[in-house]
Amino acid sequence: MDEPRTPVEIITPREVPLGGPRAMTVRRSLPQKARSLIGAWCFVDHYGPDDVDETGGMVVPPHPHTGLQTVSWLFAGEVEHRDSGGVHAMVRPGEVNLMTAGHGIAHSEVSTAGTTSLHGVQLWVALPDGSRDVPRHFEHHVPEPLGVPGGMLRVLLGSLGGVTSPVRTYSPLVGAEVVLEPGGRLELDVDPAYEHGLLVDTGSVALEGTVLVRGELGYTGVGAERLALEDLDGTGSRALLIGGAPFGEDIVMWWNFVARTHDEIVGMREQWNARAERFGEVEGYDGTPTWLPAPVLPHVVLRPRVNAPNAVSS
Ligand code: MN
Repeated sequence: MDEPRTPVEIITPREVPLGGPRAMTVRRSLPQKARSLIGAWCFVDHYGPDDVDETGGMVVPPHPHTGLQTVSWLFAGEVEHRDSGGVHAMVRPGEVNLMTAGHGIAHSEVSTAGTTSLHGVQLWVALPDGSRDVPRHFEHHVPEPLGVPGGMLRVLLGSLGGVTSPVRTYSPLVGAEVVLEPGGRLELDVDPAYEHGLLVDTGSVALEGTVLVRGELGYTGVGAERLALEDLDGTGSRALLIGGAPFGEDIVMWWNFVARTHDEIVGMREQWNARAERFGEVEGYDGTPTWLPAPVLPHVVLRPRVNAPNAVSS
């Protein structure tokens, strides 16, 4: 008899133009109406491979964040990052860059002149209430590839396959790149207290027997102790595993801010547009516009994201 399989919910991305004067398109799989969070992961953008000659690449002038961490992970290309914490860093494939906005940060992101193909993900992690006002900071880590039967892992955040990332998180989380050999089958021991999502970047993957194609995010609820992944098209696959303990706090997300109430968002927006000290200054960005003003708020009271149960309904 076959082992019972963990049920998987398929989250389909939607195409969204990225902010900035030129509109590079990304595939956004979180947040969605049906599901807002996976652990503290609250935002998943997947892009490329894009021919930069056609798309113009990534040109995002200085803009703010609050109450979150951004995780940048590239498969191809290079992005120049500058932030108001005084960090000037190159984001490169295989290197995790984690920016903690905390109380407030501003940053710019521009693909470099030498980049012909741009391919990667940007993810956000919501900070829990007790940590969301921490001072801004930035971490860089190059995970050692870990060979496992059927493929290879790179652990960005948290622990997987016996490897623990030194990158600081504020809630129990995991994030890892998973590469499957052609026809490879891989079993991952995971924390049953976590819910998980698998974003397929290339190839197609059976996650616990559920077929996921490129761009899809397969969600598993809490309770799974092991996840089976299999490359389906025989050419190899690459995916990103995210997971964490159910976040358990209601968040209000608008534009680049994560808060708890509508009024907080109103205040953050006003402070950014008034160029308040809360966000600091990005030095060395020489593009135009020199910063991105926050858009007009909708004429409704912003409500917390309603999260679905931390289980897959069957
Ligand atoms: Mn940003």
